[in-house]
Amino acid sequence: MKILVTGGAGFIGSAVVRHIINHTDDSVLVVDSLTYAGNLESLATVADNARYQFAQVDICDRPALDALFADYQPDAVMHLAAESHVDRSIDGPAAFIETNIIGTYSLLEAARHYWNALEGGRKAAFRLHHISTDEVYGDLHGTDDLFTETTPYAPSSPYSASKASSDHLVRAWQRTYGLPTLVTNCSNNYGPYHFPEKLIPLIILNALAGKPLPVYGNGQQIRDWLYVEDHARALYKVVTEGEIGETYNIGGHNERKNIDVVKTICGILDELIAEKPAGVTHFADLITYVTDRPGHDMRYAIDAGKIERTLGWTPEETFESGILKTVQWYLTNKEWWQRVQNGAYAGERLGLQK
Ligand code: NAD
Repeated sequence: MKILVTGGAGFIGSAVVRHIINHTDDSVLVVDSLTYAGNLESLATVADNARYQFAQVDICDRPALDALFADYQPDAVMHLAAESHVDRSIDGPAAFIETNIIGTYSLLEAARHYWNALEGGRKAAFRLHHISTDEVYGDLHGTDDLFTETTPYAPSSPYSASKASSDHLVRAWQRTYGLPTLVTNCSNNYGPYHFPEKLIPLIILNALAGKPLPVYGNGQQIRDWLYVEDHARALYKVVTEGEIGETYNIGGHNERKNIDVVKTICGILDELIAEKPAGVTHFADLITYVTDRPGHDMRYAIDAGKIERTLGWTPEETFESGILKTVQWYLTNKEWWQRVQNGAYAGERLGLQK
């Protein structure tokens, strides 16, 4: 199978591409515009594989997408390209509207045009898998409820509202035009190659540098955490075995308060790091509560029963095993994150090179 993966240079996209190249016989074309979040160094271990190709293309560029579909002739599309950071969406929502909504529209139209022209078995087998977030469901306000596939949408941030819009567009293209689509909504991911602006890598790297560990509000917000390689396996299962028109929620059964996530990382670092930064006895001493994010949702939690029952997927990592692996990965892959921190990963394209 030939799979076109948008956003394949990002955190989850690169895990999906590594999974496909390392664990299947399928081929991949990564389509990624390489924003600040796109990092080809996350694909270095598969870049020389003959089944891997890369095209630097913006998903809003419809003619460029049309040309890629015509040349590559994919059997499936996995759509992960997005602006993904909630704080950035609060500071500057325009890019979120552009990529997450207009870009998804542009991709849907390119895919529809391409799919319409396919014939026979190739047309019947084609599918477009849209990867989304549990944040579209809004806030559980600390109740015991879980998000299911039928939970009404109630997004709170510009990010989640833009993702909700894209989910609706995908379902409309399936219902109206018959485009064979699938949607997945997943909880918070963590693991190797995570951009250092996100909570878990931020805490690890600030701790190693002896910097304050910022925790929003009182730190009582609850998230469900999924190890990124478990997500990549789930996504591959959905794109290959999922039922057209269906939505699957994906989660790790790992609800944790943000403050407990931070304390867990501090505890692991206390064990692993013999020489602590100057003035630090326990890493938890660096925890600093900061003004809460506006509109911050209190709790997300996923019922992943449908994908477990119908596709036989379950996460392999517990939070404890996954977070230990993650901390160890950052300790042994300093070059990857140092090149992100000093801008070298992006060369001159982001004007960050030092
Ligand atoms: P990311 O920010 O790490 O990666 C996004 C990728 O998309 C980057 O490589 C970037 O260069 C690319 N991109 C952005 N705009 C583009 C454009 N206009 N054209 C082409 N490429 C573009 O994001 P991620 O964390 O890997 O998330 C991937 C997808 O999964 C997103 O759709 C996100 O909403 C969803 N998701 C993320 C999480 C999470 O915890 N990270 C959880 C659930 C769902």
